[in-house]
Amino acid sequence: MLPSPLPPDFIPFNKPHLVGPELEYIRQAVAAGKLSGNGEFTQRCQQFFEQRYGIHKALLTTSGTDALEMAALLLDIKPGDEVIVPSYTFTSTANAFVLRGARIVFVDSGPEHPNLDVAQVAARITSRTRAIVPVHYGGQAADNFTELLALARQHHLWVVEDAAQAIEARYRGQALGTLGHLAAFSFHETKNVSAGEGGLLAINDPTLAARAEILWEKGTNRAAFFRGEAARYEWVDVGSSFLPSELNAAYLWAQLEAIDLIQQRRQQLWQTYATALAPLVTAGQVRVLPTQTDSAPNWHLFGMLCRHEAERDELLAYLRHRHILAVFHYLPLHRSPYYVSRHGNAEPLPHAERFGQTLVRLPLFQDLQPDQQQRVIDAINEFYTTR
Ligand SMILES: *Cc1c(COP(=O)(O)O)cnc(C)c1O
Repeated sequence: MLPSPLPPDFIPFNKPHLVGPELEYIRQAVAAGKLSGNGEFTQRCQQFFEQRYGIHKALLTTSGTDALEMAALLLDIKPGDEVIVPSYTFTSTANAFVLRGARIVFVDSGPEHPNLDVAQVAARITSRTRAIVPVHYGGQAADNFTELLALARQHHLWVVEDAAQAIEARYRGQALGTLGHLAAFSFHETKNVSAGEGGLLAINDPTLAARAEILWEKGTNRAAFFRGEAARYEWVDVGSSFLPSELNAAYLWAQLEAIDLIQQRRQQLWQTYATALAPLVTAGQVRVLPTQTDSAPNWHLFGMLCRHEAERDELLAYLRHRHILAVFHYLPLHRSPYYVSRHGNAEPLPHAERFGQTLVRLPLFQDLQPDQQQRVIDAINEFYTTR
C-alpha cells in the first residue's frame, strides 16, 4: 500500500533539490558508456574535494556509512580494540567499528553543544584505545579540537572525523575533513550536497592512501593496474565494493558545481530563523545551538533547544498539527536498545541525554519558500505565547 498523500500545504523537514544539470550529467554518463565506478564523474568529484579542501586523497563511496566502514577496515580495527565515540551521534559512527569487533567507549557532549567534550576524552583512553571518532555535529568542530588532535598524537591514536554533516565548514581556517587521519563525508538526501545516497572517504595520512584504494576496489590493485603502475590485476588484500556508480557521481557533480549557491541559500534560511526567534531566546523560552569557538559553520541544520522534553514533544506535535514536520535528533547511543543489550546500563552522560530530550531541527532545505518559513516561525511563536 502506498503511503497516503501529504496535505498540499504540508511543509516537509527536507526535500531533495535539483540545482539544474543533474539529469544532463546522468545522460552524459550513459552516453559515455561507462556506468560502473571510478569513471570521469567520480574522478571530478574526488578532485573537487582534493583541490578545494586540500585533502591528500579522496575516494567516493556509496554512503557516509560505507566511508566509515572503510575507515575501520583500513585502520585494521580488531576485536578487543577500543574506539572513543560521542554518544550523541548517528548509529553509523559506532556501527562501523562494532562490525570489526571493537568496543565502543562513549563520551558525553559538552554543556553547550552536542559535540563531544574534549576535556572528557583523556580519562577514557586506555592501552586498548586505537581511535577517536569526533563528529562535527551540524557542521561544526568541537571546541578545543586542537587539544583533541594533540591528545591523539600523544597516545598514538587514529583520528577519524565523522564529517558527514561538515562539507564546507572550517575550524581555525582549515576545512573540516582535513584535520584527522581519515574523514567520512555523506551525500545523503538530507545533507547540504546530495546524491540521494553517497559518501566520500578523505585520506589525509599519505601512508594510508595506497591501501585505501585497494580496499575500495574489492581488494584488488585494479586502480594502480589501469594507471599502468602494476603489471597484473589481482587480489592483493581484503576489500569490498565501496564505489558508487557513475550515475550517482554524475548527479553529485552537478551539486558540487553549485556549492556556493547552495551554501548562500542555507545561510539565508538559517539567519532568517535566528533573527525571527531572537525574542524567544531573549525571553528565555528557547535556545539556539551556538556557534562553536573557532568554527565557521556550514548551516547544515537549524537546531533549537527547548526547556525540557515534554515541551519539546508538545512543540513537535503542535507543528505537525499545523502541517509542519520538525524533528528531534539523536537518541544517545549509550542508552540505545542495542548497546544496553550488550553492555547493560552505561553510566549516565547527562549532556548527551539532555540534547536527546530537548533538541529540535526545523525544516531547512533549498526550496523552502519564504512564506513557508514564515509559517514555521509563526507557528513556533504561537506555541510560546500560550506558555
Ligand atoms: C548522515 C550521517 C551519517 C551517515 O551517512 P550516510 O551517507 O547516510 O550513510 C553518519 N554520521 C553522521 C553524523 C551523519 O549525519
